[in-house]
Amino acid sequence: MRYCLLTVLAVLAGLTGGAGEEFVIAEDGDSPYVIVYPAEAPPVVETAVDDLQHHLEQMTGARLPIQTDEEPLPERAILLGNNRFLDELGVEPEWDRLGDEGYHIQTAEPHLAIVGGPVRGTAYGVYGLLDDHWGCRWLTPEVSHVPERERLELPDIDETVVPPLMYRESFWVEASDPMWNLRNRLNGAWITSPQEEHGGGFYYDGVHTFYPYVPPEEYFDEHPEYYSLIDGERQWEHAQLCLTNDDVLEIVIEQVRQRFEAVPDADVVSVSQNDWRNPCQCEPCQAIAEEEGSEAGPLLHFVNQVADAVRDDYPDRYVGTLAYQYTRTPPENIVPRDNVAIRLCSIECCFSHTLEECDAGQNEAFAEDIRGWQELTDNLFIWDYTTNFAHYHQPHPNLRSLRPNIQFFEEHDVRGVFEQGNYNSTGHGEMAPLRNYVLARFLWDPERDYETALNEFLDLYYGDAAPHVREYIEFTHDRAEEGNHHFYFNRPPPTDEYFRGNFVEQAHAVFDEAEAAVEDAPEYMERVRILRLPVLYVEISQALEAGPEHVDAPRIREAIDAFFALVDEHGIDLINEHTPMNEFRERCMQSAVYQAAN
Ligand SMILES: [Zn+2]
Ligand SMILES: [Zn+2]
Repeated sequence: MRYCLLTVLAVLAGLTGGAGEEFVIAEDGDSPYVIVYPAEAPPVVETAVDDLQHHLEQMTGARLPIQTDEEPLPERAILLGNNRFLDELGVEPEWDRLGDEGYHIQTAEPHLAIVGGPVRGTAYGVYGLLDDHWGCRWLTPEVSHVPERERLELPDIDETVVPPLMYRESFWVEASDPMWNLRNRLNGAWITSPQEEHGGGFYYDGVHTFYPYVPPEEYFDEHPEYYSLIDGERQWEHAQLCLTNDDVLEIVIEQVRQRFEAVPDADVVSVSQNDWRNPCQCEPCQAIAEEEGSEAGPLLHFVNQVADAVRDDYPDRYVGTLAYQYTRTPPENIVPRDNVAIRLCSIECCFSHTLEECDAGQNEAFAEDIRGWQELTDNLFIWDYTTNFAHYHQPHPNLRSLRPNIQFFEEHDVRGVFEQGNYNSTGHGEMAPLRNYVLARFLWDPERDYETALNEFLDLYYGDAAPHVREYIEFTHDRAEEGNHHFYFNRPPPTDEYFRGNFVEQAHAVFDEAEAAVEDAPEYMERVRILRLPVLYVEISQALEAGPEHVDAPRIREAIDAFFALVDEHGIDLINEHTPMNEFRERCMQSAVYQAAN
């Protein structure tokens, strides 16, 4: 069952709104328009009002006055939100269809109305106008593109837009700005904490919550039976909970209630396995697992009971769980309750190929599981992986798969996608700003064109170096395709076959050209120089493995110095998800290769 569909009903019905001049919003730094919003507007609408005024001023030089709908309708108005003039202007949004986040933009000559669902809809409408119709782009939290216009026109518009995904989160450090998320119409709440003025977000509370809810240090000594039976013995280290124990169920229900109370904004409270394996092997747990053909059986049997217990007190909220690693395969008989949210994780997949195109087997198996879950639940969410977590600063040619995979999720009735990347560092992961941008584009609208999203970012962010950055992206992706190389969430390492031969040499050559193209543009230069970090990482890693007698030691010493110069310049703190950069620095500095060049 579809929650909603992105639908553009009728765009560009006319060219200039009949008489033409009426829909000139601003010209030569002047505008006859006034921004009008409801006197009772929520804070996010006020944010959008100010941001619209700000962007229009940047675009045209005209600063539009702002007033509430308590005042009389001005001669020409840009009307935001559910205001008292809608009826008389014949603006009739289909409120039911809009949901929380959909919006309706309609010209009612000579006025323009932007009306949206009660949560973030009206704000998204403002950004839809600025983005889809007037070409504004919010590339990163720091870098925006706001086109300047002598004359800003507006064609006749009558469109209703509803996002196909109700939850859209890019979990990259580069996304940790609530205004950037709002402008790009993302609503995740993990990487940032959106406040009321940002319209809040879709908040998923917790993950791997078994032990936070039932801490072994509190319970194991007296109640080892709460934990996994493994090889005939109750264990807690790297174990899970016994999911057929009634006391465990009661404790978890109480914990979930407490979370719902403690985090009133939580849309989902997670009841999910620890981040390792070892499910309980006791007889009742295994009886369910066998009958269901999956360890998702005992898990769902348990989570369904939690969901039943809290349903009445917390309607419209979900108990979430993971379909992850050993629980990824859907059960054969048990159906999740309708207040259970399933978060299916793609951690085993290859990402240089799309879910439908890889011949290594894992993607096919995942696709099979998604079809299974699709049949069982209307509340399917995805946890997806968009970098190499063992090598944050290494080329990871997955860009061509991002959009087809998001489309694949949407086609399988997925309601929300969480794109995990380099999330826990000071940022600057491989191609991070680009990745974050294109993810935002596709999460809002999976139909958006990949080439368009890629090229607009490259042109606007890298200036004259854009063609060369593009060449590097093509080079790394073609190489993966032509050699049928598979890229997973934590492999290959930089010493892999893929990076051998001419990889380093060719990549450096492309970046030499890229830097030359912007040598007189320091702003672009800074963004281009950091792109070389992953190539240096590969070069250094291979040399460390090979040893001093097999490499040009002075060259490698130079590469190491260049690598850490960039690291220090940008304050990069992690070399991978769990390892401080300084450990890698020590390794490099103490290496025989580095010392040999002394
Ligand atoms: Zn058990
Ligand atoms: Zn593959």
